[in-house]
Amino acid sequence: MGRLTLHTPGPASTSPCGRADARQEALVEHQPSVQAETRDLPPVDGWRRVERTGRARATCPCGLDTGMVPTSDAWGTATEHDVATNS
Ligand SMILES: [Zn+2]
Repeated sequence: MGRLTLHTPGPASTSPCGRADARQEALVEHQPSVQAETRDLPPVDGWRRVERTGRARATCPCGLDTGMVPTSDAWGTATEHDVATNS
């Protein structure tokens, strides 16, 4: 099957945007990934906490970028993309 990976940014990472590695032209490897959106919660007893917002973003090195959409949509898009490009 595919190689879907779920990236859950830690509390320290603020912006999921701004990837600088867009210098691929000829050999674009399709590797869709889904990045879940999280938001910080108030710390409890010194523990940092985050929660899922219910949204996620599917991206691929080929330029696929759904933006922030409902998580199920992001997964659906990434899965279809993975199947479509690796079959
Ligand atoms: Zn792709």
